[in-house]
Amino acid sequence: MFNRLYLHIPFCREKCHYCAFISRKPRGSELDDYHALLLKELQLVSAVDKPGQPLDSIYFGGGTPSLLSPQQVSRVMEQAAALFSLSPGIEITLEANPGTVDLNRLRDYRTAGVNRLSLGVQSFDDALLLCLGRVHDADQARRAFGDARQAGFGNIGIDLIHALPGQTLSQWRSELREAIRLSPEHISVYGLTIEEGTPFALRYPEDSPELPDEEQAVKMFETADNILPAAGYAHYEIANYARDGYRSQHNSGYWRRDGYRGLGVAAHSFLRAGYGYRFSNPDTLEEYGSQLLAGRLPRRDQHHLTREDAMAEFMFLGLRLAEGVSPERFEHEFGLPLDDIYGAVIAELIRSNLLQSGQDGLCLTTRGRLLSNQVFTRFLP
Ligand code: SF4
Repeated sequence: MFNRLYLHIPFCREKCHYCAFISRKPRGSELDDYHALLLKELQLVSAVDKPGQPLDSIYFGGGTPSLLSPQQVSRVMEQAAALFSLSPGIEITLEANPGTVDLNRLRDYRTAGVNRLSLGVQSFDDALLLCLGRVHDADQARRAFGDARQAGFGNIGIDLIHALPGQTLSQWRSELREAIRLSPEHISVYGLTIEEGTPFALRYPEDSPELPDEEQAVKMFETADNILPAAGYAHYEIANYARDGYRSQHNSGYWRRDGYRGLGVAAHSFLRAGYGYRFSNPDTLEEYGSQLLAGRLPRRDQHHLTREDAMAEFMFLGLRLAEGVSPERFEHEFGLPLDDIYGAVIAELIRSNLLQSGQDGLCLTTRGRLLSNQVFTRFLP
C-alpha cells in the first residue's frame, strides 16, 4: 500500500562539484528514452502494486527534474491520473534548477498540474555558486523565483546550503535574509557535507582551513534556527522550515512512514504491508532500462521489515520532526508501551540533553538536532 509517488530524474545539465547523487549529463536521446521508461514503469506498477488509496502526493526529484519538458511532466501526470486515483488536494512537487527554467516553462509546468516548486537556489552569492559548480548565478535564481510567482505558483520552496568554503557567518545571515525577502512558503537549509569521490573531496580535505570549522558550522545552524522562525517559518524537521500550512506533505510522509512508490533509476520504495517492505530500483540506467524493456519491474535490495526494524524506524524517522514521536501512537502501532522497548535509551538521551518532552511526546533538543545521527543510531536493532 502506498499513497505517495516519487519519480527520480537522474540527469543534470552539469555535475555540481559537491554532488554525490546519482546524476549525470544526458546524452543524445537519453532524456526522452528515460521518460518513456518512466511511463512504462508507471503502467507496470499500477498492475502490481495497486496503492489501495488515492495518491496524496507526487514528487519529481533528482537530479534535475526541470530538464523534463512541461509536456513530459504533463504526460506523466495524465498517466498517473488514468492509472491511480488522485486525492482532491494532491500535492505535486517539481524540483527545479533556476538555470533551467523561464516564465513560459514555469507556466507550462503549472498548467501540467505541478502545484509546488522546490527551487535549488543553494546560495545568493555568485562566487559561492561558482565554487559549487552550479549552472546558474544569483540573479537567475531571483528571476526564477519571480517567474514562478508570475506563473501562478503559490507554494514555492527554496533550498540553501551553509558551511560553504570561505563562507562567513555574516554572509550566511545575508543569504537567509535574502531568502526571506523573496517570501517563499518553505525554506530548507542544509550544511555542506564533503562526499567521497566528488571534486570537493579532493579540493577540501578534512580540516581544510577554507571550510568553516565545527564551531562556525554550529553557529550557522543556530542562526538559521533563530532567524527563520522569527520571520514566520516554523521549524518542522531537522533541515526544514515552513509557513503555516506549507510543510512538504510528500517529505512529511517519509518521516511518518507513509507508503511510497519510487520510480526511476535508484529510486526507493516503501510499501505498507506487514511491518513494511522496502526495496530500490537498480542504480544504473542500463540495468533499469533492460529490465523494464523485458517487461519486468526492476527491484533489488528487498527487505521485509521485522517488528524491531519498524519500531526503530518509527523512532529515528519520527524524531526528525519537531513534534517528535508520540508514545500513544507507538503503542497503537506496535501494541507495546514505548518505555518497555526504549525506556533506558530514552532516559539516557534525556540525561545527555539530546531528547526532551515535546508537544506530541519526545523530540530532539537543539543539541540533539546537531547530533541527530548519534541519537538515531541508539534506536537501531
Ligand atoms: S543539480 Fe543537484 S543533483 Fe544535479 S549535480 Fe547539482 S547538486 Fe547534484
